[in-house]
Amino acid sequence: MHNTDNVDPAELAKFSDLAHRWWDTESEFRPLHQINPLRLDWITDIVPIAGKRVLDVGCGGGILADAMARRGAEVLGIDLATKALRVAQLHALEAQTSGVQYREISAEALAVEQPESFDVVTCMEMLEHVPDPSSVVRACAQIVKPGGHVFFSTINRNPKSFLFAIVGAEYVLKLLPKGTHEYAKFIRPSELARYAREAGLELEHTKGLEYNPLSRRYWLSGDTSVNYMLGTRKV
Ligand code: SAH
Repeated sequence: MHNTDNVDPAELAKFSDLAHRWWDTESEFRPLHQINPLRLDWITDIVPIAGKRVLDVGCGGGILADAMARRGAEVLGIDLATKALRVAQLHALEAQTSGVQYREISAEALAVEQPESFDVVTCMEMLEHVPDPSSVVRACAQIVKPGGHVFFSTINRNPKSFLFAIVGAEYVLKLLPKGTHEYAKFIRPSELARYAREAGLELEHTKGLEYNPLSRRYWLSGDTSVNYMLGTRKV
């Protein structure tokens, strides 16, 4: 067992079951592949990551972790979905990505093992899959060095996000399998900002991610009503 209760086994099973398709850019993971360059550029414009020690929490098959390593960071990706981690590892071997490692450990456990040891922590599209997101935010805050950056992304909770992220994405456009997301687990930016503040992270950047189903394109914007990212810094 993992030494944390902050895990939903059904969530991990969902991601493990799909793991073999993680690097198929036309699969269920297409949205993550599409947003990856956008979020990577957004992060690296705020903090250059080359030569930095970066932790990716809930890394899954490693789409962001691998890309950050290719930008010269020394990356550790952690997740609790065993198969997703295996796929991430295999991809790093096949793509010959140096500077990335993967480990099956919770953020909470790593916070105890390696406090204040990473320059940058990323935790993307993961908080809406855990029972207690504030516990993960606290762990990220403990893991990052003082002055270091922590980035989060998740889905807002309001009628529009229900319509776009669940009805639209899962039922109409079928971008994601039905049941990928649960409305009640979505997190408002104000809630995430409060978790961050209470953990000693100062909110510095807010960005929205928008999607046009006709052009099938994503872009960054000031509209945080559905998908959004927060950039914080440990005070
Ligand atoms: N961050 C990656 C993957 C997002 S998918 C990206 O944005 O590309 C969500 C991931 O969160 C899955 O890999 C899932 O296994 C992971 N996850 C869910 N609950 C978790 C937990 N309690 N601890 C660590 N990872 C978790």
